[in-house]
This record gives sequence, structure tokens and C-alpha cells, in this order.
Amino acid sequence: MDWDEFAGWSKEIADWGARYHKTLRSRPVRAQTKPGEIAVQLPKSPPNHPEEMATILQDFDAIIMPGMTHWQHPRFFAYFPANATPPSMLAEQLVNTVAAQCMLWQTSPAATEVEAVMVDWLRQALGLPDGISGVIQDSASSATLSAVLTMRERATGFTGNRTGLSGRGQLRVYCSDQVHTSIDRACWVAGIGQDNLVKIPGTGPLFGMDAAHLDAAIREDLAAGHTPAGIIAITGGTGVGGTDDLAPILEVARAYDLYTHLDAAWAGAAMICPEFRDRFWRGVEGFDSIVFNPHKWLGAQFDCSVQFLRNPTFQRNTLKIEPEYLKTSGHKVTNYSEWTIPLGRRFRALKLWFLIRSYGLEGLQARIRNHVTWAEELAEQIRALDGFEIATEPMLSLFSFRCPGDDATQQRLVDAINDDGRVYLTQGAFEGRKIIRVQVGQFDTAREDVMMVRTVVEEVWQAVK
Ligand SMILES: *Cc1c(COP(=O)(O)O)cnc(C)c1O
Repeated sequence: MDWDEFAGWSKEIADWGARYHKTLRSRPVRAQTKPGEIAVQLPKSPPNHPEEMATILQDFDAIIMPGMTHWQHPRFFAYFPANATPPSMLAEQLVNTVAAQCMLWQTSPAATEVEAVMVDWLRQALGLPDGISGVIQDSASSATLSAVLTMRERATGFTGNRTGLSGRGQLRVYCSDQVHTSIDRACWVAGIGQDNLVKIPGTGPLFGMDAAHLDAAIREDLAAGHTPAGIIAITGGTGVGGTDDLAPILEVARAYDLYTHLDAAWAGAAMICPEFRDRFWRGVEGFDSIVFNPHKWLGAQFDCSVQFLRNPTFQRNTLKIEPEYLKTSGHKVTNYSEWTIPLGRRFRALKLWFLIRSYGLEGLQARIRNHVTWAEELAEQIRALDGFEIATEPMLSLFSFRCPGDDATQQRLVDAINDDGRVYLTQGAFEGRKIIRVQVGQFDTAREDVMMVRTVVEEVWQAVK
């Protein structure tokens, strides 16, 4: 393919994209596909001869699109959102076209310098104090793993990487029982082990861990000869939005000199609104590491996860490795690959630059505030349905409900709602019971889209009950 043909197809795909997004509301949100249905339509072996792009694109429409779940659909209320705003998509097109691998400052100085400035723009947008720096990662899972590895190294005097963990006794990490599974997996692969991830029950209206309970667990571990390594707090857990009270947890961390990480992967975006910071984020500035995903609620196309660090030296001392071929002599520059596990890096900061400039903080705040208001309104409407209960109250724009009946009935209702296709919800578990989750956060969702959930729930329930 030559570059003129490339330009022609790019324009076709741009037009296709506009048509796709303008007709999204008429499509079922969740793919209405059976397992294996897509794979069976592809040849079993790769072609020996070149094929025309026109043919490939026809097949894309005919075979691939029916098997897609529409994450940018305004009535996507499942999981958490993965918003791709048009400006961030345009930035990604440019990044994909220039296709630089930005591991070091010198392998694309602009990528490193824009990244530093975007992290600082977001620091200010979230009301974090001057002096906190950070890095953009692919996902919150990677940022959390980096933080847990840093906990491990700090607790072993930065010798774990060299000597391994055998014969050292048990390193312990603490969190609430509301955390995302990325915390468990970080502890698995960091060599801490699931049994050494101590989960404190979440209690109170926000299901946060109790600081006194945390303190007691640490004291018990010290008495048993274990080595506490760090504490992981959460703002906006995946299940029901479990949120820790940060300041008392930090006090415990200081008392035992423990490294702290905060997972705000989803809810962090809402903290661009000062009123939510007052409610959920008091004390946040004391955390050593904070992760949030602009690729969820904020509108930066997946993937884009920002990890703020109070003192990046700890993480750099954990992850930096510098063979001869990576040395960059002379300049005093930041090489972000020293802050993360993968060496290779995409230019993720560009989409933040496009996004934040296109909407301004006000535009982004207005959307998040609407989502929270509409989620609260919808929760009231579902509470009013005969026999329905709100299982967990809205935390920002996330709540859960139950229909009358047992767990199997909840699942039948959720499956029937998603087969209907007008909206997309997912199930969860809370206090041993199945719940139906609703989160409002798709960038283009309108109030009518959100209220459609009540209509669909009511109609589908009549057929299922
Ligand atoms: C989405 C989410 C994660 C995982 O994020 P990835 O970027 O997919 O790794 C972790 N924690 C919370 C609270 C989340 O909402």
C-alpha cells in the first residue's frame, strides 16, 4: 500500500467512524453473539496471496462489527466506562501514524515533555499539591504492580530484586476487602503472595477499612515476626464503590513507616470537581502513590492510566535498569521507562493534551456532575418499583439494586435486560448476595438514556418474573 492509498482509506475510515457513532443508539449495546460465532467465519489458515483492502474492510463490516459490544454507546451502564472522546481519538490517529516508541527522552523528546506537563495539569485539576510528579502507564493494574514492587523493595532495603525473596519471612500488604482484583494479582506476581495480603473488612456507609482494625492487624503481624510493607487504600471500588477514609489510614502508615498506594482508577476522574474531593478525598496528598485512569470516566481513549508519585525515587530505584544501549549521556532528562515495568512506551500524553484543551476542565466537570445527578435520580426511580430495593446507595454515579427473588432471579433479569439490548448492565456480589450494578459515565449519555434503564428494567421484569 502506498501513502496515497493510505490517505484514501484513512478518509473512508474517518467517514465510517462518524456514521458509526451517529447510529450507535440504534444498535444493541452488548454483542448479541454466541461463543465461536465470529471465529468460524475466519479462514483457518493465513492467506498466501495479498488481498485487497476493500475486501478486508467489507469483511470487517460483515464479520467483525456484529461481534462488537459498543463501549461508546450512550446506554452503556456496565462495568466502568472506557470513554473515547473524538479529540482523544484524533490524537491517537496521529500517535499511531507517527508510531514512535517513546521509552527514553531522546527517542522522542516531545512525548516525554508533554507527558510531564500533562501529569502536572492533571495534578492541578485534582487539587494535588505542587511537587507531586508522576508517569503515564497502560493500566491501573500496571501502576499498582509498580507500587507493590516498590513496597517490597523499600521493605527489604532495596535488596529484593538482587537476592530474591526466599528465606526472608513474610512481607505483608494491607487493604480493605473492597479492592479490585488488580491488587491481589500485584501481590501474587510481586512474590508477596495472596496469604500475605491482609484484607480488613470494609464497614460504614462507604465500606472503608477501619483504621483501628488496620492498626491492630499490623501490630499482630509485627508480633508474629512478619514485615509490614505497605498499605493500599481505595476510592471507588469496582463492586459497590467502596471508599476508604484516607487521613486515618495515613496516620497508621506513618506510625509504622509504611509505603502507601491509592487506587482511584475509576473515581479519580470525578475529583476534578472540588465538591467530590471534599467528600471522598480528604488527606489524599499524603499518599506515596495514587493511580487513576483518564481512560475511564475522563474521556481519554484507552489506554491511559496516570500514576502520581510523591517521591519517584523509590519507584525508580525499584524498576530502573540501565544497560549500555539505553544510556543517554549528557542531558539531565527524564527517561520514563525507568519508572515502569515495560521498556517500550506509547505516546499516551498526546490524547490528554487534545482532550483537556478541547473540553476545558469545565466541560469535563459538567459531564461528571450530570452523571452523578442522573444516577441518583435513577436510583430513586428503581427504588420506587414494586418490590425492588437499592442494595447499595449511589457512590458518585455507581449504585446497585435487587429485584424481588433469589440470586438466580437477579441473574435472569440481568441476562434478559442485556438480550433486550437497549441498555447494558452487569451483575456483582455484595455481602454474599447477587446484585445488579448500574454506573452512569458514558461521555455522550443524556438524561433520557439514563432514565431508559428504569423503563427497560420495568418492561423486562414483567416478562421474566
Ligand atoms: C478499572 C479498575 C482497575 C483496573 O484498571 P485497569 O486499568 O484495567 O488495570 C483497578 N481498580 C479499580 C478501582 C478500577 O475501577
